[in-house]
Amino acid sequence: MNTESVWQLDEGEKIPVGISSCLVGNPVRYNGGHKHDRRITDSLGQFFDFTTVCPEVSAGLGVPRPTIRLVENDTGVTIRGAKKSELDVTRELVDASAKIVSKLPELAGFILKKDSPSCGVFRVKIYREDGHPSRAETRGEFTHQLLAARPWLPVEEEGRLNDPVLRENFINRVIVYRRLQKLETAGSGIADLIDFHSCHKLLLQSHSPEAAHRLGRLLAGPADLSFTDLVREYRRQMMIAMRKTVPRRRHAMVMERLAGYLRDYLDAGDRHEFHQLVGSYRRGEMPLVVPITMLRHHLRRLPENHAARQVYLSPHPDALALRNAI
Ligand code: SF4
Repeated sequence: MNTESVWQLDEGEKIPVGISSCLVGNPVRYNGGHKHDRRITDSLGQFFDFTTVCPEVSAGLGVPRPTIRLVENDTGVTIRGAKKSELDVTRELVDASAKIVSKLPELAGFILKKDSPSCGVFRVKIYREDGHPSRAETRGEFTHQLLAARPWLPVEEEGRLNDPVLRENFINRVIVYRRLQKLETAGSGIADLIDFHSCHKLLLQSHSPEAAHRLGRLLAGPADLSFTDLVREYRRQMMIAMRKTVPRRRHAMVMERLAGYLRDYLDAGDRHEFHQLVGSYRRGEMPLVVPITMLRHHLRRLPENHAARQVYLSPHPDALALRNAI
């Protein structure tokens, strides 16, 4: 890989990521407990530098505190006591969330506690005034404000991170987002963004061939955007594309494309063996790490070339072993 690329992360650099405070073991929940998730702190903690937030503590609700939930009425959604409906903490939580969001440092991702009326990202329940669940679902108040301020920030709930495909997808998005932050800060012009695109092309194609094509056209188009605006538009489109998880057939397609560079370097036996592995992976008989490891091994034989610079080959630290499980 080209060691001069301005978007590359430094050796040992930890990526700044926000996280719901209860997930790292802080006793901030309504009952004085926590929801420490060791898969996050022990594994991702080696590579992420966590900034913790607890919107409900910041709102002054105390520990322990009454449980709260989202309640809809004619005027909108309010945040009320789950057992004492007369308790209305909407203003406190809205104000505290706004204050936290305005003071957050630069982050490349956020891990949030599922189901929380403050922190949940997906399918947070809303109740009706009569206490019955409404059909509507939403985000927690803090997450709502976080994504209003930083719409393309990669976010994920801790429960979904137990799914290997979603875990790999989130970590990829965080790392790419961080690289684009570095590019925006340290890049000196479009040549740096073209270098970034060139190295991420196959990763992008694995998520969305259409987006890879569209982003290539964006860089080739008329220079009517400033460098900063161009990076931001590129980031917006790339983050949307990367929200899609990568199906096995797409991984197989990208690996076969990379194997094309080896045409003149592999004998028929090696080529056959590799195609067999890709076929087995595609049928779900083995994890992605197997054909990818062989591909990386073969590509090392090539002199410096476009294929070896593809981030797709090694998008995240090998120590996380993410491709052993997908
Ligand atoms: S889910 Fe959010 S608000 Fe609730 S305890 Fe955890 S960090 Fe605090």
